[in-house]
Amino acid sequence: MTSENLPVVVIAGRPNVGKSTLFNRLVGRRQAIVSDMPGVTRDRKEGEALLRGRRVRLIDTAGLEEAAPDTLYGRMRASSESAVAMADLVLFCIDARSGITPADAHFASWLRRQNRPVLLIANKAEGQAGTNAALEAYSLGLGTPLALSAEHGEGIADLMGEIAERLPPAEKTRRREAPKAEGEDGEDERPAGPLRLAIIGRPNAGKSTLLNCLLGEERMITGPEAGLTRDSITVELHDEQGPIQLVDTAGMRKRARVEQHLEKMSVSASIEALKMAEVVVLVIDATLGVHEQDLQIGRLIEREGRACVIALNKWDAVEDRNATKKAILDRLEISLAQVRGIPVVTFSALTGAGVHRLLPAVRNVYEIWNSRVSTGELNRWFEDALERHQPPLVDGRRLKLRYMTQVKARPPTFLLFGTRAEQLPDSYKRYLVNGLRETFHMPGVPVRLQLRGTK
Ligand code: GDP
Ligand code: GDP
Repeated sequence: MTSENLPVVVIAGRPNVGKSTLFNRLVGRRQAIVSDMPGVTRDRKEGEALLRGRRVRLIDTAGLEEAAPDTLYGRMRASSESAVAMADLVLFCIDARSGITPADAHFASWLRRQNRPVLLIANKAEGQAGTNAALEAYSLGLGTPLALSAEHGEGIADLMGEIAERLPPAEKTRRREAPKAEGEDGEDERPAGPLRLAIIGRPNAGKSTLLNCLLGEERMITGPEAGLTRDSITVELHDEQGPIQLVDTAGMRKRARVEQHLEKMSVSASIEALKMAEVVVLVIDATLGVHEQDLQIGRLIEREGRACVIALNKWDAVEDRNATKKAILDRLEISLAQVRGIPVVTFSALTGAGVHRLLPAVRNVYEIWNSRVSTGELNRWFEDALERHQPPLVDGRRLKLRYMTQVKARPPTFLLFGTRAEQLPDSYKRYLVNGLRETFHMPGVPVRLQLRGTK
């Protein structure tokens, strides 16, 4: 798993134009990471390159063609599709010595439809060779071709400059234009600055007491009676890893006096708070067990795609701790299945016992929420998952699922490619999502799976 958000540069083109040669030239002596990708089964090479001071992740699609089925065009497309889908820039290579072939033209027309930035490269143009083909390459509609020789190292410095110019600005990298899924949320980048945390829960669960405990001082007024008015304040906590900003503490205000109204208010205030947050601590009064409203908030957290830690408060007042914990965990497991394995911390905000475990749990789930799984690891797992349970038949035909790629983090979002993938039944989606969550250790974070049909 990696949380590195390097821009992705993909080298594509028909076989034999010099993609691997170019890859090696750009990666230099840096170690290439070789990862296999099922559906096409051949290795896909990935490496890191340093271009004008920018680190990029370089992907070579060469060699994938041979193992894929059907026609040459089909093979080229299948091999490049997943890589191109996550590319910040595609280096489309042609062979300037052989000129534009029908395969180049076909590939180019497909590539134009993918709406990814493309840099056209006329390779094997050492000396004056291939000038004609380079000119001819304008006809591909992919802009001005850059003539170079990967083998002889001519034009490589220019290429690096051209690539660096086309990369998204450093802080914008990896903002994916993945198809928006239901309840799609949030940005993909990890912003600088403090982790944004919301502490939410039903009235009287102990949120203010917890906050006071975390702050180590009586910053807020707490009291047993519902309906106490509090002011909105912005507070920042610090732990060993730096600042944590508590968002929308106004959401904790008790704005109404009528019990029913109060509960409604508290949920809508929670929605506001959790939209602004990255991690949400859901505080539950353990002496009362799990209330329907707790589950409602839990589902909201999942719908908004936030990372979550469940805090069982008032642990000092719980008599049979084992039985209580089991009852609560069972209830959560059944009713909040979508956030399986969610971290649960027990403590007493009043005495402070156990509260020190909360922020480490928050940091941990935040890391998971931000994490990325490499395409290689992902597809090794995916291949196994398909073997264990074949995709179901739909209208008497078996769905052919090809490969997966993680298109974004915050929360982890995966794109699954396959023939008629959109028709995948929910049960099989759940199977895959649960498998992803378990295999790549993503408890407590919502995992999104998007489907993309291929022909
Ligand atoms: P791929 O199938 O697209 O990955 O192509 P390769 O990198 O394996 O290269 C195919 C062939 O073209 C090899 O024989 C390379 O040595 C040759 N080649 C690659 N780049 C150049 C170049 O700049 N000039 C010449 N003349 N040959 C090249
Ligand atoms: P909020 O409405 O969620 O902000 O809840 P408060 O922090 O105002 O707490 C509600 C009541 O629960 C107060 O009387 C607190 O003293 C009490 N309380 C909070 N935390 C604990 C705890 O850990 N143990 C016990 N026994 N009481 C607590």
